[in-house]
Amino acid sequence: MIALDPRGDLIVTACNSEFIQLPGGEADEMQIFPVLFDALFADVAPPQFRETLLACFATESAQAERTLDFREGSIWWRLSLRPISQKRSSGTSVHEILVTGFDMAAQARLAREPDVDASRYRALVDLAYDAIVAMDERHNITLFNRAAGNLFGYAPAEVIGKPIVTLLPEKFRAGHPRRVRQFANAYQPGLRQATAPRMDETNSVYGQHRDGSIIPVEIAVSKITLNESVEFMAVVRDISDRARLMELLRKQATTDALTGLPNRREFLDYVEKLLGTADVFSVFILDIDFFKDINDQHGHDAGDNVLRALAKVGTSMTDRPCLFGRWGGEEFVAALPDADGDLAHRIADDLRQRYERHEVAHVAHRKSISFTVSIGVVTRDADTIDIDTLMKRADRALYRAKQSGRNRVEAG
Ligand code: GH3
Ligand code: MG
Ligand code: MG
Repeated sequence: MIALDPRGDLIVTACNSEFIQLPGGEADEMQIFPVLFDALFADVAPPQFRETLLACFATESAQAERTLDFREGSIWWRLSLRPISQKRSSGTSVHEILVTGFDMAAQARLAREPDVDASRYRALVDLAYDAIVAMDERHNITLFNRAAGNLFGYAPAEVIGKPIVTLLPEKFRAGHPRRVRQFANAYQPGLRQATAPRMDETNSVYGQHRDGSIIPVEIAVSKITLNESVEFMAVVRDISDRARLMELLRKQATTDALTGLPNRREFLDYVEKLLGTADVFSVFILDIDFFKDINDQHGHDAGDNVLRALAKVGTSMTDRPCLFGRWGGEEFVAALPDADGDLAHRIADDLRQRYERHEVAHVAHRKSISFTVSIGVVTRDADTIDIDTLMKRADRALYRAKQSGRNRVEAG
């Protein structure tokens, strides 16, 4: 509260602690009022403050809010001045002005909140489980968080400023700038996507550890425009465990556990592809003769050993491209791309003879086990449109081989 005494001096009649701090006073300082305005504010207040106060007394009307710099601009307050008339018992009215101030600098600090944002951001980047790496327009690393350090084996100081390709396997380095350009051109920051934008849709992205080992990673990238310059920020996740698991599952799904051969599903996939691509190919189905007797005489484990031994020989039956798989039980299949009926028959009969000569050592007994096989061969013809028909024909040929005395190859 400010009054104007008859001599024309401005008198502060009351002032709260915040206003006291304006000239740099302590909030808890005991200030005795009234006090001369100049004693409190002369050193800190800009001349406009005094002028505004006098104008307010003169006009007895509120002044428009104005922002004034105090203490040479280090404090920035918006002031509102309101005249207050108090009726005294004598009938005279004493005019005082209620001045309220609003610290604009504090408001601006709150509005900006850059410190809060920056420290939140720093904490987030460093706490993240995923590696976070950023690079500038020249493809040099500008940010490298703790998880990135663990993933790639470098301390941040060692890689900041280094080319981003330091973190890539040799063979991807040359193509990287082109991929970044493609990504940058396709990148639409406004687009709300279900998943973060990836650098590579196939997901087969690899990083390279300091020790040279290759790390399969999943990577989400964003493009950030800072004033005039562009930065790319990538969240990089180590998917070695997932890649290993996927590989294991894929292998389990396509491999026969006992023999390690491709299983029926894998064989059918292979033949399906051949049907689409190869004009000439043959398949055969092979069944061990009297396998029940082998099991009965030598035991089931010995039977398993026969199956394993048969698988090993079958895999190396020819140097030509081929797939030898387990159809199920003691039945095996082979697909022979580019092999016509004669060639396929010859390969099948060579194999049959190899089995005839082959003896499987019996684990427990001293004696070895010998066995023979029957084979039904078919070659793709113009009528062959699906695998079922092809395999039924092979099965019928096999049946004939069995009927004709076993240990033989029949074509169907
Ligand atoms: P054929 O000459 O007519 O083919 O006579 P076979 O005794 O081989 O006849 P069949 O096909 O009926 O018998 C197959 C036997 O193979 C029956 C089954 O117990 C055995 N078998 C199937 N799978 C396995 C396996 O994984 N391990 C072992 N040890 N035996 C198996
Ligand atoms: Mg059988
Ligand atoms: Mg059999």
